[in-house]
Amino acid sequence: MVGAVETVITPAMVNGTVEILAVVAKPLPPVVAQNGSPIEAEGEGDAKAKKNREIVLGKNVHITCLPVTEPEANDELTGEKEAYIASVLARYQNTLINRTKHHLGYPYNLDFDYGALTQLQRFSINNLGDPFIESNYGVHSRQFEVGVLDWFARLWEIEKNEYWGYITNCGTEGNLHGILVGREMLPDGILYASRESHYSVFKAARMYRMECVKVDTLVSGEINCADFKIKLLANKDKPAIINVNIGTTVKGAVDDLDLVIQTLEKSGFSRDRFYIHCDGALFGLMMPFVKRARKVSFKKPIGSVSASGHKFIGCPMPCGVQITRIEHINALSSNVEYLASRDTTIMGSRNGHAPIFLWYTLNKKGYKGFQKEVQKCLKNAIYLKDCLRKAGISAMLNELSSTVVFERPKDEEFVRRWQLACEGNIAHVVVMPNVTMEKLDAFLNELIEKRSTWYEDGSIAPPPCIEAEIGKENCACALHKC
Ligand SMILES: *Cc1c(COP(=O)(O)O)cnc(C)c1O
Repeated sequence: MVGAVETVITPAMVNGTVEILAVVAKPLPPVVAQNGSPIEAEGEGDAKAKKNREIVLGKNVHITCLPVTEPEANDELTGEKEAYIASVLARYQNTLINRTKHHLGYPYNLDFDYGALTQLQRFSINNLGDPFIESNYGVHSRQFEVGVLDWFARLWEIEKNEYWGYITNCGTEGNLHGILVGREMLPDGILYASRESHYSVFKAARMYRMECVKVDTLVSGEINCADFKIKLLANKDKPAIINVNIGTTVKGAVDDLDLVIQTLEKSGFSRDRFYIHCDGALFGLMMPFVKRARKVSFKKPIGSVSASGHKFIGCPMPCGVQITRIEHINALSSNVEYLASRDTTIMGSRNGHAPIFLWYTLNKKGYKGFQKEVQKCLKNAIYLKDCLRKAGISAMLNELSSTVVFERPKDEEFVRRWQLACEGNIAHVVVMPNVTMEKLDAFLNELIEKRSTWYEDGSIAPPPCIEAEIGKENCACALHKC
């Protein structure tokens, strides 16, 4: 496909069924040299960058930099500059199409069509501050934002007049907000989070200078409530602020919310001495559609729930949703009343486009559409796990999850090609609605073919035992395979 840009045509999404992207080739504009130096095709630059992609602390790497060049004073050259910019953008689009095709490791649904919203791009839409309080800036989308929030409130079972929330810039901001609300409610509280919690939770602890206790996890990645109990009892004099994971980042493990609450109560923590924030960045949205699910609901004694908008829902820019109880926000905002009229959000300016994208997808897919997509994801995840195990590769899939954890491929080039997320000896694929059976087959065929060459000459140690990470029954190392 060198020399051609694919134009993506409507990845139609009707009733939860996904059609494969239709692509049409279009010639690339010619490459225009600037300052005498020829422009590299993106692909080539990428290959070079990969070889040098080690992280050097304290040093910024500028290998893939596209320099900003000052416009020429001479008007005659404007055409050339425009052609240069157009060629850079066309090549970049080409790269994006390619990288989108080979993406499996991050929980982003890359399948969407927001063509209907293109005309809104020329507006600077900003929902600064509290979504429920109008500011004097009129170019906002609060009507969409509140509509989306109401939908989530219904999903997580809290009445319209009892919740407060906002569309955040990402799942991290939701965690920062939820934990801040917890700390404002219980100023001397200790933050408890399982070891496998997202790094943003520990970042919150550092930012807010909170005492933080890490709780052990089970092999599945869920919080170990026996260890939680021991740690609670050791700190009985201080209230508890708990981050509960509705889907961990690496293993997709869902903490048992009911057991967490039970453990708190059994350890002598009454409801006014604990605050639970649910980090539902990925599964916060998928969970309600899974049978036998560990339901997230404000009918239980939880304080807040957050989710990412660009993960399962699919959105071209990062965003998220944060919902909490209105009484918490009233307490929090009155504390800072002397600073501003009502300063309730982490950020000041907020992306006003994001709520419109979410509103659009919620309207088009609705509860039923999401339900179908979740079922498809879980089915495809089971397919992937079964195929891996049949091929003799260690693999694990948690029951409520579409995250397939498996032996880390030995070839870093392969890992980068499929953009797998890795940690130690394990890697994962997160099956999102855009990950079709065909894509999984292509991935599996390539993995199985390449893997057979990684170990054949005996120069590399055989696949390591990953019992500790995924459990004996899922491990296919020389010791554990039957
Ligand atoms: C992705 C993720 C986050 C952070 O979300 P961002 O939108 O990337 O900021 C937090 N928690 C979990 C469990 C996640 O998977």
